[in-house]
Amino acid sequence: MAFKLDKSAKAFAEAKQYIPGGVNSPVRSFRGVGGTPPFIAKAAGSRIYDIDGNSYIDYVGSWGPMILGHAHPEVVGELKEALERGTSYGAPTLLETELARLISEAVPSMELVRCVNSGTEATMSVLRLARAYTKRGKIVKFAGCYHGHHDSLLVKAGSGATTLGVPDSPGVPESIAGNTLTAEYNDIKGLTELFAQHGEDIAAVIIEPVPGNMGLVLPRSGYLDQVRGLTERYGALLIFDEVMSGFRVAYGGAQEVYNITPDLTCLGKVIGGGLPVGAYGGRRDIMELIAPAGPVYQAGTLSGNPLAMTAGIATLRLLVENPDFYEKVTTMTAALCAGMQAQAEAFGFNFQFHQAGSMFGLFFSDRPVYDYDSARHSDVAAFNVFFHAMLEQGIYLAPSQFEAAFMSGAHTHADIGATIAASGNAFAKVAKY
Ligand code: PMP
Repeated sequence: MAFKLDKSAKAFAEAKQYIPGGVNSPVRSFRGVGGTPPFIAKAAGSRIYDIDGNSYIDYVGSWGPMILGHAHPEVVGELKEALERGTSYGAPTLLETELARLISEAVPSMELVRCVNSGTEATMSVLRLARAYTKRGKIVKFAGCYHGHHDSLLVKAGSGATTLGVPDSPGVPESIAGNTLTAEYNDIKGLTELFAQHGEDIAAVIIEPVPGNMGLVLPRSGYLDQVRGLTERYGALLIFDEVMSGFRVAYGGAQEVYNITPDLTCLGKVIGGGLPVGAYGGRRDIMELIAPAGPVYQAGTLSGNPLAMTAGIATLRLLVENPDFYEKVTTMTAALCAGMQAQAEAFGFNFQFHQAGSMFGLFFSDRPVYDYDSARHSDVAAFNVFFHAMLEQGIYLAPSQFEAAFMSGAHTHADIGATIAASGNAFAKVAKY
């Protein structure tokens, strides 16, 4: 049966009547790759289903949260029970302590944890805290890293901001963006020079330890240690944004894998099990500045929402109770990458495959990719041909060269085999384009 998106096209046109660009988050519009985004009706396990009746093996996983696969029966069961007890109280619950405890046990650098509603909120709040603690004004971020859409960090931002060609968004006041210094990822020399110039004013360095928002880029050997060393030398805080990598590259996140202790960490995605959650946390003496323990104000009507806490707790419990989980999903991801790489090579392509645990990425580039510039060297037009060829064969990848892909515990060997086979057909199309 020919691949059709007629109902989705109609739904997209109607959505545009009421919602800017028809979507509530820009990359979903397929602006980067062109064409019609499938409107999704439901999801289960490794698959999502659109309103046209197409089904896809999903490697977006809601952009990272769905590490157990969609609608995991135990998570759904817990949520159904929680729903009956009410959806929000705006008062303390046992659930909040339980999720904070699970997080703190998994990520020991997070001695105290404050839950918020999104990754954006986590990084926004953590910068205020870092500035209050250090009594300094400037922040360092890395080109191509994405930390959410608040003013201080929409500077040389990756993810959708890069896909849409607006890494520096209009509307961000110069007075705010001017306090954000940028460095190139993986370039310790550049960061050292930045500190030599501005060291006394730098409150914090915020970094995706394993960046997943310019495609998936890996840290060079020793690089994160050097960043830790520099921040310590200048009395600046090191903030790991593990919204994507947390509970994803390993149960303890990238800080476990690379054995680095940041001062503060941001989380999101997996810790909400698909419901809206973010969190930030870190050293007790720093976190105790947060209100009401201290004077740094940060609050939220729905923060610690019982449904979100329930989904997060159920997800983390399933992960921690299954000690083989990360090894299995990493092995599956490696098999998928190796299979796709072999298909690419059969067509003479020397593309760049990267993997970190259950995250992976493919750059349509014949050169090594290690930072924002080298990522942007990729052939976006070739990626777009590949993307649509995969979609038409029922493989749902992120609709942009500048995003990572995610494997879940629900993906099967059959899914991987089907994806590798589909990639052969898709690379054949790329070869002809
Ligand atoms: N930080 C990182 C590393 C992210 O990947 C994202 C979202 N992709 C965010 C922050 C922002 O999270 P949210 O979309 O939940 O606001």
